[in-house]
Amino acid sequence: MNGNNIVENVIVIGSGPAGDTAALYAARAELRPLVIEGLTPGGQLTITTDVENYPGFPQGIQGPELMTLFKEQAQRFGARYVTGQVTSVDLSQRPFKVVVEESDTFFAKALIIATGATARLLGLPSEAALMGRGVSACATCDGFFFRGKELIVVGGGDTAMEEATFLTRYATKVTIVHRRNELRASRIMQQRAFSNPKIGFTWDSEIIEVLGVEGGAVNGVKLRNLKTGQVSQTAIDGVFIAIGHKPNSDLFTGQLDMNENGYILTHDGTKTRVPGVFACGDVQDWVYRQAVSAAGTGCMAAIDAERYLAAAEEGEAHAAKAKVATR
Ligand code: NDP
Repeated sequence: MNGNNIVENVIVIGSGPAGDTAALYAARAELRPLVIEGLTPGGQLTITTDVENYPGFPQGIQGPELMTLFKEQAQRFGARYVTGQVTSVDLSQRPFKVVVEESDTFFAKALIIATGATARLLGLPSEAALMGRGVSACATCDGFFFRGKELIVVGGGDTAMEEATFLTRYATKVTIVHRRNELRASRIMQQRAFSNPKIGFTWDSEIIEVLGVEGGAVNGVKLRNLKTGQVSQTAIDGVFIAIGHKPNSDLFTGQLDMNENGYILTHDGTKTRVPGVFACGDVQDWVYRQAVSAAGTGCMAAIDAERYLAAAEEGEAHAAKAKVATR
């Protein structure tokens, strides 16, 4: 892959549902977008298995297959993809500068940021080994597979309360395991969880190991009480990690407005503080975080970019005319 001095119309950073949809719409607007795929081409859906809530697939579809289709559709209309990780961006200069792998430099008149978010995990080897086989970081995605089962949700924030409440639709019992004896979640979310008869709490505790059948699914956890140090073992069918997400926005620190958790702030659709820079998908969405909502904002970002470029072109044409007239 080689960088060059060509100025692209649009560069899309990220290739999950938001980035690919932005690329599809930008390509159909004949902007020949360049997509820089990132380290996880296809984004978070490529590390899930069954996707049953993406409209249009009544029988469900595998996450990686869905993302291959997204990419193929964008490429069909002329979107170009390069594999690599963006290592720096300069939004203070025009055209915007995008550096990939610290060596290849690209320039663009408009930029669409679709870098997504990463679920925070506990970091246990057993958690990684059983991911997708009873360990999950998304109740909306995977809750359905746990009908009639007993589950644990880890965390004490709004996400943990929301996920636990949602999971009671399927599970017979949900135990929230929290490392303190006080929740961080908002009062209303706490109340909702406390008043749900299917939800119980294990306080001051952390999971030290997720247990599973050899080559199979989760069947228990080892817990440590952080106050007493006592270790216990509990049988369980699934573990949902809900200890927050990290938006992949480090590249833009100091260049774009963000909230206290690092999510990029947008206004009037997908516009950021810098004209010509648009953000879509999970990097700017701390509420919905769904593939379909990410795709929706990807579409919006491409339309916003297209309008921005058209207005900029019109402005340039006017300026050129005025220059000729004053000669
Ligand atoms: P938070 O950062 O609010 O909470 C994370 C929770 O996970 C905390 O209770 C924290 O414990 C715990 N935690 C963090 N790291 C670990 C670890 N390594 N091991 C065990 N536990 C850990 O994240 P959320 O995702 O819950 O919320 C993020 C933002 O999104 C918040 O502003 C929230 O209000 C918002 N949100 C709003 C919703 C809504 O309005 N419907 C729904 C979901 C989220 P401790 O408390 O001890 O630090």
